Amino acid sequence: MTVIDTPLSADAQKVSDLVDDLLEQYPPASTPAREFLGQQFDRGLAWVHFPEGHGGLGLSPGLQRSINERITAAGGPNSMSRNPIGYGMCGPTVVVWGSEEQKQRYLRPLFTAEEIWCQLFSEPGSGSDFAGLSSRGSRDGDEWIVNGQKVWTTLAHLSRWGLLVVRTDPEAVKHAGLTAFVVDMHAPGVEVRPLRQMTGEAEFNEVYFTDTRIPESEMLGKPGEGWRVSLTTLMNERVSIGGTIPRKGSGSIAALVNAWNDLPEDRKDAVTRDDVMKLWSRAEVLRLTNIRANQMRKMGDPGPEGSIAKMASADLNKDILAKVVDLLGADGMLYGSYEMIRPETAMESDTLQKAFLRSRANSIEGGTTEVMKNILGERVLGLPGDVRVDREVPWSQVPRN
Ligand SMILES: Cc1cc2nc3c(=O)[nH]c(=O)nc-3n(C[C@H](O)[C@H](O)[C@H](O)COP(=O)(O)OP(=O)(O)OC[C@H]3O[C@@H](n4cnc5c(N)ncnc54)[C@H](O)[C@@H]3O)c2cc1C
Repeated sequence: MTVIDTPLSADAQKVSDLVDDLLEQYPPASTPAREFLGQQFDRGLAWVHFPEGHGGLGLSPGLQRSINERITAAGGPNSMSRNPIGYGMCGPTVVVWGSEEQKQRYLRPLFTAEEIWCQLFSEPGSGSDFAGLSSRGSRDGDEWIVNGQKVWTTLAHLSRWGLLVVRTDPEAVKHAGLTAFVVDMHAPGVEVRPLRQMTGEAEFNEVYFTDTRIPESEMLGKPGEGWRVSLTTLMNERVSIGGTIPRKGSGSIAALVNAWNDLPEDRKDAVTRDDVMKLWSRAEVLRLTNIRANQMRKMGDPGPEGSIAKMASADLNKDILAKVVDLLGADGMLYGSYEMIRPETAMESDTLQKAFLRSRANSIEGGTTEVMKNILGERVLGLPGDVRVDREVPWSQVPRN
């Protein structure tokens, strides 16, 4: 087969030259990770679609993939695995909604993972219906006082900053009464308690706010714009969770192929081979769909294709890892320890058994599969909307328990 090298576009060439320069001047093998990431940020290679001076070059987000691939291949560090909520969701929200001072203050240490971030949206009474949340924020001079409880807060135990949404106007309809802030996770009145998962680990937490003071300057957007701010976060969350583009045959599907290869010959029957091939094909279709969605993605606005990727990748990953554990046979039941640990990162597993248990969360975290189906049904297929009885009612008058 003849491979034809297509010439790089001017933008792709510019990015490629900058990556060459980064790798030459700061060889990953001899450069501390934070220094390397700082240099990557300063060259505009952190989020290439962000504006210049804020970790980007104002170019197409599709170019980020080749940057990441080259840096990974050279053994360089990865901001996404060190600060997943920060890199995937909080950075993209700060760049759209933050003041110039906030962007200057937060983006670089977020990217270098010197400062870990968490997302404080979900509450015990509002997950899917996140706009119905009850945590309150009230103005006191040039500060806001926050009281309430958040839940499922990934990596809150390591976080320096949190992206917080609270209700500041209970008399407005639910979506209109929300306001977003950057909250200092070390401020008085912030308490983080571990929540243990079925893996034994506690990568997420409950977070309690008791008279926590936040300066007005830490608001993102304006009072009442919290819903619009959080849509930026949620759209990016879906792409960040479901839209990653692994190399062909890598990731959990590689684990399945390995498990198949390791099977004794008498267990390699036609039905199992068929199951493995179907999953492999689904993985490849999703990978190609994500490549296409990534090319089409508008600057900074992932759009509904993020919900497709999120939904499809959740179901696929669960199915692949369930099949891996099946193929492992009795070994699939061997689990090292359920001792509670506080992991340094989220969404990563060092054994296949743990990856299987962790994958059960895929169709819940970042919006459930059922809710993704509602979004796609309404926004893409134009089907009739979900029943929303509280839409026109002031939040304070909506019945709740
Ligand atoms: C591993 C993990 C990490 C997480 N990390 C974070 C985090 O860092 N920050 C954060 O803020 N949150 C986080 N979450 C919370 C997550 O966003 C919520 O769990 C999710 O949005 C669902 O909300 P819920 O758990 O309250 O379930 P509910 O909203 O109570 O849903 C219960 C069930 O009802 C279904 N359902 C609800 N509404 C509808 C509807 N309109 N139509 C059809 N079905 C519906 C749901 O699909 C689900 O099956 C995390 C969750 C997990 C599992």
